[in-house]
Amino acid sequence: MPENWIAGTWVGAREGGRREIRCPADGSLVAEVDESTAVDTEAAIAAAREAFDSGPWPSTSARERGDLLLRVADLLERDKADVARMESLDTGKRLVEGEYDVDDVVSVFRHFGHVADADAGRVVDTGNPGVVSRVVHEPVGVCGLISPWNYPLLQVAWKVAPCLAAGNTFVLKPSELTPHTAIHLMKLLDEAGLPAGVANLVLGSGPDAGAPLSEDPRVDLVSFTGGLVTGKRIMAAAAGTVKKVALELGGKNPNVVFADADYETALDFALTAVFLHSGQVCSAGARLVVEESVHDRFVDDLVERAQRIRLGGPFDEKAETGPLTSAAHLDKVEAYVAAGIAEGAQLRCGGARPDDPALADGFYYLPTILDGCTSDMSVTQDESFGPVLTVETFTSEDDAVAIANDSIYGLAGAVWTADAGKGQRVAARMRMGTVWINDFHPYVAQAEWGGYKQSGIGRELGEAGLEEYRETKHIWHNIAPEPQHWFSS
Ligand code: NDP
Repeated sequence: MPENWIAGTWVGAREGGRREIRCPADGSLVAEVDESTAVDTEAAIAAAREAFDSGPWPSTSARERGDLLLRVADLLERDKADVARMESLDTGKRLVEGEYDVDDVVSVFRHFGHVADADAGRVVDTGNPGVVSRVVHEPVGVCGLISPWNYPLLQVAWKVAPCLAAGNTFVLKPSELTPHTAIHLMKLLDEAGLPAGVANLVLGSGPDAGAPLSEDPRVDLVSFTGGLVTGKRIMAAAAGTVKKVALELGGKNPNVVFADADYETALDFALTAVFLHSGQVCSAGARLVVEESVHDRFVDDLVERAQRIRLGGPFDEKAETGPLTSAAHLDKVEAYVAAGIAEGAQLRCGGARPDDPALADGFYYLPTILDGCTSDMSVTQDESFGPVLTVETFTSEDDAVAIANDSIYGLAGAVWTADAGKGQRVAARMRMGTVWINDFHPYVAQAEWGGYKQSGIGRELGEAGLEEYRETKHIWHNIAPEPQHWFSS
């Protein structure tokens, strides 16, 4: 079956390309899918443009659009087992994590289903009874949506749900490595009753199938989640036609631990913060900033526990985390660790591929801790997106804040302390879009997510998540026009 979904029809890549999708846990073939090029993306853009300019979708009521999203949430719940399995095969993540991801995707569709008609605009009091002045929201138009491989369907949901809630049409280009849940979502949107041409999907690489979405003048908005380098490229390309741009980029997220924190809880969360999904999480707490007085004990205990983390594939029930997503990504993480050691970081554990023969065909990397790091090293500044924790120390509250903020990124961070006042003070000074106090990683669909500094532009989720996909228009209606006689002649 062809896998590009264009104008309500499944079509193959016009230039006939195919790509093998292999499970990162053992290299086994999951499936072959279409490998599209710019001609396919251009056809999808044409379909989305036609559906926006002539179709019924942009002028349906916001409640109808919300109801459709709620139906999609129900369908995803119905298909949860299959969708979770697809996600785990494409990413290599544990099946239970695939299931959590589907639950999160359902919440995102429910959230935007409920808020779709929550804000219909407002009437402005002009003080003039002869004028009706209204501020209304309208869809932006055709949206190009480009998503990464770490949480494939969840990242797609964060874009697709608000995009549809606001009445836009779209072309989605998911990561070339993890296409299956995006394909399934198109089936569910169709089943839920979305008109043809509103949702379009092209599979293929970023430079080939993705690039037209930031260049083509028929696209009004490009929303991208991925790495900083690609984000800059997309922003520059979008400037050519002054598209609206939403970017969710990387992070190098500090996890600040004060000596007065609940020791066992902070230790436990420090592990989860960085090693969940083998560190392939944009908000991973990959930069431990720990108070000097507790450093030695804390790091010794972390090392001991990191060495016990069990690696394994999606269906290994004893596994605690899985592989990296590709051979290329594994090479990148290895090079990052080697650079850190060359700069003077002290390797405390990991720093290698596992020697277990059962894992030999997968892209596994051992949980790694680099101690003795400082802010001027590349390992504390660059994102590895792998299972690598760097450790720095501080001696005062000001020192902790300065280290945590010493980054081009500003996505997320955490502070651990038993002193509620200190927690609030430090959180207020941390320059990040999300700060957790005595926690790490949780998010809710009702609260905004996004980065300060070079972690991105705009916000996803929450109320602002919908704003990204809307234009706001002021309509001034003079209901009793009369000549003004401004000029006496
Ligand atoms: P990339 O930037 O490599 O790719 C992301 C997407 O962009 C993929 O679909 C990719 O296609 C596509 N792409 C690549 N080049 C272009 C181009 N020139 N034009 C259009 N599309 C293009 O990131 P990764 O996939 O490697 O994801 C990891 C990165 O994403 C990390 O840095 C991470 O921090 C960030 N991220 C941020 C999140 C956040 O919420 N802030 C959430 C998740 C990840 P292809 O299929 O070829 O790869």
